[in-house]
This record gives sequence, structure tokens and C-alpha cells, in this order.
Amino acid sequence: MANHSRQDAKLTVYGRKTRKCTVPVNEQGKYLKVSQYYGENVYNYHLSKSLSLEDKETLKQVIEGKKTINRELATKVANSVLEWAIAKGATHFCHWFQPLTGASAEKHDAFLSFDGDRPIEALSASQLMQGEPDASSFPNGGSRATFEARGYTTWDLTSPLFIQESSNGKTLVIPTAFVSYHGDALDTKTPLLRSDLKINEVMMKFCNLIGMKDVNRVYTTCGAEQEYFLIDKAFYFGRQDLVMTGRALMGSLTSRNQQLEDHYFGMIEERVLAYMAEVEIELYKMGIPAKTRHNEVAPGQFEMAPIFKDANVAADNNQIVMTVLRNVALKHDFVCLLHEKPFSGVNGSGKHLNWSMSTDTGINFLEPGHDPHENYRFLAVVATVVEAVYRHADTIRAGIASHGNDHRLGANEAPPSIMSVFLGETLTKIFESMVSGGKYVHSARQILDLGARQLADLMKDNTDRNRTSPFAFTGNKFEFRACGSSASIGYPLSILNAAIADIFDETNKILETEIAAGKSSDDALVAVVMKFYGNAQRIVFNGDGYSQDWVKEAEKRGLGNLRTTPEAISVLKDAKKTNFLMRTGVFKESEIMTRHNVMLERYIKCRDIELKTLRAMVSQQVLPAAVAYKAQLSEGVKRLKDAGIDSSLEIDLLKDLAVLSKALYEETNIMANIINELHHKGDEEAMAKNIASDLMPRSVKIAQICNQIEEIIPDNQWPLPKFYDMLFIR
Ligand code: ADP
Ligand code: MG
Repeated sequence: MANHSRQDAKLTVYGRKTRKCTVPVNEQGKYLKVSQYYGENVYNYHLSKSLSLEDKETLKQVIEGKKTINRELATKVANSVLEWAIAKGATHFCHWFQPLTGASAEKHDAFLSFDGDRPIEALSASQLMQGEPDASSFPNGGSRATFEARGYTTWDLTSPLFIQESSNGKTLVIPTAFVSYHGDALDTKTPLLRSDLKINEVMMKFCNLIGMKDVNRVYTTCGAEQEYFLIDKAFYFGRQDLVMTGRALMGSLTSRNQQLEDHYFGMIEERVLAYMAEVEIELYKMGIPAKTRHNEVAPGQFEMAPIFKDANVAADNNQIVMTVLRNVALKHDFVCLLHEKPFSGVNGSGKHLNWSMSTDTGINFLEPGHDPHENYRFLAVVATVVEAVYRHADTIRAGIASHGNDHRLGANEAPPSIMSVFLGETLTKIFESMVSGGKYVHSARQILDLGARQLADLMKDNTDRNRTSPFAFTGNKFEFRACGSSASIGYPLSILNAAIADIFDETNKILETEIAAGKSSDDALVAVVMKFYGNAQRIVFNGDGYSQDWVKEAEKRGLGNLRTTPEAISVLKDAKKTNFLMRTGVFKESEIMTRHNVMLERYIKCRDIELKTLRAMVSQQVLPAAVAYKAQLSEGVKRLKDAGIDSSLEIDLLKDLAVLSKALYEETNIMANIINELHHKGDEEAMAKNIASDLMPRSVKIAQICNQIEEIIPDNQWPLPKFYDMLFIR
């Protein structure tokens, strides 16, 4: 009774050939340099022939937020965009936005129009600037009734227009914000844009106070490292859990998984490298500067990171990155899994948000320079950020909550759900000596003695790496590592920016007071450090964030540890904790409630789908396989007995299997009953809590029994692609 579909899938995968894609070439058929085709699908108004120099200057000011665009200019831009897009072969345009599903959404319209009865291509100013998708079909957290379904998309001038290619056509993509009839943000972009304005406002004041007079604009920068898994398509469709939920709900772990640490930075296999290269070509064309690519820790896990950009464009780019990763994977007969925890027992996937603030004059506020101990501006900025994370930790934690991320945060994996900040030895010492009034002795950067003169000198970094902290200072930026791999980064970024802008308001007040009292700006900056670092140092932790000791230590320090999504999002209902989001103008009160409701609803729905899928797999796949093998064994026992041969082995196996399958059957029924009851009660918050505290542990237990059964049943009779297949066969 061999299971053919799984065996067939394996044979298919063994026979796969590496896909070759079209690498851009010139007329002579020579490969183009990336720099020659980078951004070829991005609209660049500077290159427009139909816009005058004056138009371009006005547009620049509009993009910088100094002016608003008028109808006349919008019409000119629409014409220039249309001309460019149709020359490139685009037939459609779409307003592209990021609703609260975490994914992106797009509605396509053809350029095709009629002048009388003559067909033409057209794009009007209003089509460019505004769209009206039906908002009622997007998550709205009960913020609107269906009869008030109007929603608007409005063009975001700060994020470039680009062309998306598919095998048989091209679409002009217009990045937009998505808001309700009453002007509530129904997306992740609008609050992010507001947060960037607020950062600009407080940081411009900061610059003025400390004498940085030439600065015109301050903005947040972000580079999002994206982790993902690749498995073969043939296995993917054999697992309804992967298709329905994005993660394997059961599966026995292979003996070798990640313990030898041989996958991380290991040589990239040919088929995977070909995939990565095609992803990069696609991204380059759309102006996304993919920079690093490597194997990650778990088998089958990989990472890409782009060069950082301003936060809003980085957030848009990350959405495109996720789409391209998924689409190109299919062309290579892979499926790209962006779920936070596709395979239990090996590492999950996150998204590291590298974050900093920069001026238009090119100064990075988190650049320590050669003498960080005397760089008071840098120290005051870091102290303010630390205070912001300390004071608003719970809300920042809420911003990254999702059912998928619960398997990383709060489980035995990096990073923990406790928000802490890693500063590294040097910085911590500098701060501690300042706060305690001691003297910091600066040691020049050391050259490491490698004992091998053939090698280039290695300068020792000021901070060692720490991989376990959710919020780590890494040289000249902070790295917020707790975001989920599938999530939109716009939401956590807007909360983080709001938190930091909120504390900078206080920083500026301290500076004002100190400077008014006759202090130098350096002394005033020191006063900021003394106040904030003195207060927030409790959140600084340079040790191992995975350890149980830290959990205890953090509790002693009074730091929050919100392990699950229902706990974390309840913070959004606590006005004391979320006030800063309104104070900074980043969210309206109604928008926070909307987000709470959407997150709660999504948690319940996603978990419900998981639990139902688990149940279906148990009753349609695992139990039938167990029952069939039981029948086979008992048949064998009978024949052995008839022949007078010892059948104790078969009887032992049969007994084990009988006990396990019975237990599985019962546990699954209990789980199904609890789900039904919860649905009847209808209280969503109670339901979510119940799922997290009772049903999830039950589902883990059920998965464990399934795994035990998997280990007994002959390999060729197991109906599901195994972890071995998915993680090791490529
Ligand atoms: P690592 O894995 O060592 O953290 P990576 O090279 O994978 O480093 O990723 C680092 C990310 O940080 C890149 O996306 C990079 O562009 C980004 N980054 C570097 N400097 C800044 C900055 N000032 N602001 C925001 N992001 C930055
Ligand atoms: Mg990295």
C-alpha cells in the first residue's frame, strides 16, 4: 500500500533542472551591468521630456512635502507617466496599496479609452491621483458598516511609480494610501507617512537647538532583511497545512536539522542560486537594491537584504520583495514560504528592521564616529531611543504581534517577547560611566592579532554582535529583529517612529531649558543622556536573550513579557499606553481600535483555519494511514500465528499504534468540541485568549502524537511529504 503521490513528488523533484532566466543583454548580446538596467522600470520625472524644468522643480518640492500638487501639474505628470508607461509596453495601471491584511492589494484598469469612437490610451490626473476601491471587503475592524463602504486610494508622491512585468503584459503600479470616507487610515502606509513627518518635525527642532543650521529635512531610514524558506512545489501541494496556513502543523523532525550549523552561510545550491539571481534581476529593474543573499540557519532557509532607503519607500519595497520572492519561486518550481514558523523544531523566519535617522545633508544620527564617548549628539540620540523603547515597549511589542510570530517570540527562539535593548560593551560602559559620574577611558580601536601575517589586518569593532536581542545597536543603526517575516514593516515602523518622536519632544524640552540656562549645547546633550539613560538602563541587556535566566531577570527589572498575540494586542486598548500614538499624530484613536479589532479577528481566523486543517489532516490522512497499517499488522499477526511463528514484534507495534491512534482520535475530538463551543459564545477576546492558552497547547500535543505515528508507519506508506523531503530534497 505504498503512497504514490508522495513517491511521485520525490521523483519529480529528483528530475528537476535548474531554470535559466533572461539576463538583460545589450544589442550585441553582451550582459548588461546591473548599473545599466537598474531602475529601468521606475518612472523618473527628471528624465521626462514633456515636463519643463520649472515643473520638475515644483514636483520636487511637492515630494519633499513643501507644496501640494495642483490639477494642472498633476495633468502634466499623468501625461508624462502615460507616455513613459506605454512606451515600455504597459497596458494597464493600478492603484497599489497596503490594507490591514499585511499584504498588498491592487486593482487594475486598462489605459484603453475612447475619443469618440477612436480607441486611445489615456491616464487622467484624477486617475493618477485618486481611486475608489470598495473598502468593505478589506479588514476594517468594524470601523465601518458595509453601507458606508467607500474607501479611497490616494497617490503617494514620495514612493516612485514603477512597472510590474508579467509573462504576457506590463502594469504601471501607482503606490497609494488607502483611507476611509471619513479619512481614517485603512492601511499601513498612511500612519507611516505621518510618523515620518513627526520625526522630521521633532528632529528639525533638535537640529536647530544644537546648531545644525544647514539641515532642511530629517527622515528615518530602513533596511529590511527578509528571511524565507524554499521548498519544492511538488511537496507543497501535498501538504494542505502549508497551502491553507503557510506552516507544517505536524511533522517529525529529521535527525540532522540545524545542529551542525552547516547551512548558515553555506555554499548556495545551484537551483537556489539561480532563483536568487532571477529575484535580484526582477528587483533591480524595479529599483530595489538587493544587496546580500545567503543561506540562513535552518535547512531550506535563506535571506536577502536590500540597501537601506527612507522608511516609506523601504516599506513599499519590502512588499514588492515578498511578492517577487513568491512569484519567481513558482517559476523555479519552488514555493517560497514567508511564514514566521513553517517548520517546528528548526528556526523560524523574521524580518530585521535596520533603523536610523538621517539628515538631507547626509548625517546619520546613529553614527558614533571615532570617539563615541565625546560625540554627545550621538549619545543623546541613543539615550532618547533607549528611553523610547523602554517607555513604549509594550506598544512596540503589540505592533509585531501575529499568530505566526507567536511561534518565535515567547517560544524558545530568538528573539524573545521581552523587549530589551542591546548596546554592546563599549557603549554601555560609556553610558554607565557618564551616569555614575565615573570616567570613561577610551581605548583606541584594536587591531586583532590573527597570528597569520598573510591576512589583511582586522579592526576590532566597537560592538560585538549579539543575535538574541530584539532591539540591538549594530554599529551605526538599530536593528529591530522581532518583526515577523510575513508582516508589513510599515505598521511596526510607524509605532517605533511615534515612540521615538514622542521622547524627542521631551529631549528638545530638556535642551531648551538647559540652553536657556546658559549651558553649551554639548552640556545640554549630556543632560539628556543623564536623564534618559539613568531612567531607561533597566531595559539594556547585553547577555543571552534566549536564556531562562533572562526571563527571570527581566521580570525582576519589571519589563513586560507579552508572550502571545491576545496578550500583546490588549495593550492597544490601554489608553495610558497608546496615548503617545495620538499625541504624535501618527494614529487617531479610532484607528488604534480598528487595528486592535483587525488583529484580534485575524488571530482568531488564522488559528481557526489551522485547527480545522489539523483536524482534517488527522482524520483524512494520519488516522487512515494508522488504521491501514494496523490492519496490515493484524493480518500479519494472524498469518504468523497460523504458521506457528513468533509474532510478538508485530503485536508490540500493533499495540503502540493502537494506543497512539486512539489517543489521537480522542484528543482531536476534544479539540473540535472546544472550538465549536467557543464559536457559540461569541466573545472574541475571550475566544482568542482561550485559543492561545488552551487550544494551541492541545494542537501541539496532537501534532506530537501524529509525529509518533509517523515514526512507526513505513516510510513509503506515509501520506504526507515529510520534513526530510521538504527541507532536504531540492
Ligand atoms: P547583518 O546580517 O549583519 O545585520 P545585512 O547586511 O544582512 O547585515 O543587513 C543590514 C541591513 O541594514 C541592510 O539592509 C543595510 O542596508 C541596512 N542599513 C545599513 N545602514 C543603515 C542605516 N543607517 N539605516 C537603516 N538601515 C541601514
Ligand atoms: Mg543579515
